[in-house]
Amino acid sequence: MIVLSKPYLTGKEIEYIGEALQKQTSGNGAFTKKCQSFLQEKYGFRKALFTPSCTDALEMAAILLDIKDGDEVIIPSFTFVSTANAFILRGAKIVFADSLPHHPNIDTAAIEQHITPQTKAIVVVHYAGMAVDMDKVMALADKYKLFVVEDAAQAIDAYYKNKPLGSFGHFSCFSFHETKNIVSGEGGLLVINDEKFSGRAEIIWEKGTNRAAFIRGEVDKYGWVDIGSSFLPSELTAAFLYAQLEKIDYIQQRRKEIWDYYYEKLSTAVSLYDVLLPAVPEYATHNAHIFYLICNSPEQREYLTRTLKKAGIQAFFHYPPLHFSKFHLQTHKPEVLPHAVKYSEQLIRLPLYVGLERDEQNFVISEVASALSEYIGPPARK
Ligand SMILES: *Cc1c(COP(=O)(O)O)cnc(C)c1O
Repeated sequence: MIVLSKPYLTGKEIEYIGEALQKQTSGNGAFTKKCQSFLQEKYGFRKALFTPSCTDALEMAAILLDIKDGDEVIIPSFTFVSTANAFILRGAKIVFADSLPHHPNIDTAAIEQHITPQTKAIVVVHYAGMAVDMDKVMALADKYKLFVVEDAAQAIDAYYKNKPLGSFGHFSCFSFHETKNIVSGEGGLLVINDEKFSGRAEIIWEKGTNRAAFIRGEVDKYGWVDIGSSFLPSELTAAFLYAQLEKIDYIQQRRKEIWDYYYEKLSTAVSLYDVLLPAVPEYATHNAHIFYLICNSPEQREYLTRTLKKAGIQAFFHYPPLHFSKFHLQTHKPEVLPHAVKYSEQLIRLPLYVGLERDEQNFVISEVASALSEYIGPPARK
């Protein structure tokens, strides 16, 4: 069985977790600081706080933005539920924008159409670690005085015009979930790019107390100063993450080799059958998080999925569009966002992980090519 994704372990995880067991297991200890400094230095983030998940980082961003009942937040429909939930939990009204015709990322032109006097924030998702056009998003934010949050869950070590993703929005949220490029089981990061939020971010992170300032010796006792929650992961998780961060360049290089090999070897086969390879925007340097194909019809995607499964290859769809979810439709009328629906019905992800061997990848490639050549079904959707 060739699975879709498999976490890569560097070999140092157990050693570092053992060290944490000896020193400190609760959060905000030496490993947490090492992870945060590593990411701040490597990517030039102003301030980074390690969190239990990207979901938690998004929830922190929503608290920090003071999202209240009636505030509108624009997000893509083609994304994971946490992008929406984090803001709904604070009472926001979610306004879904469609994807681009040629790319699963949010259509920046659609964003502007959805802006109203109630709009408070735009949340962009860098799908597959491929940059959204951040110049356009930041220009809209400037023009209408809005906040920008980057859901960079998939976007570690990816760039927009050579600047790291996660350094554009007022806040950015990364994930170290087992399925991402760099993992710690569960884990996330809140990046605070606007200095004025730094102090409060630390307080919310520390359950509404000024304990972080106390640990640094800035205050002689700490207490309850704001709302907050338990947004500190344990040092065991930070130790796991640090072992991964030390190997980030190797992990990224291996993933890119695999991604590039798929792209090269599948280009002929897919062009014969009206299937599309990922369209990497010219301003984006992606991080090989996902290799996907866009089939020419839902039926062709189903056939490909089923045929690969029979061959022992896991290849999956990705997000059902959130605007069509059961939860959203309880209180909203169905909207028309055709591109989000297209990616949900026609996109398929192929196995991609550091340990994927060349002969396994060749097998996936030949099975994809032969499945596409055998498929007879409804004509391509245009
Ligand atoms: C993985 C993912 C999340 C959630 O990350 P967790 O760390 O599991 O909370 C959120 N948004 C996107 C786009 C993701 O891919």
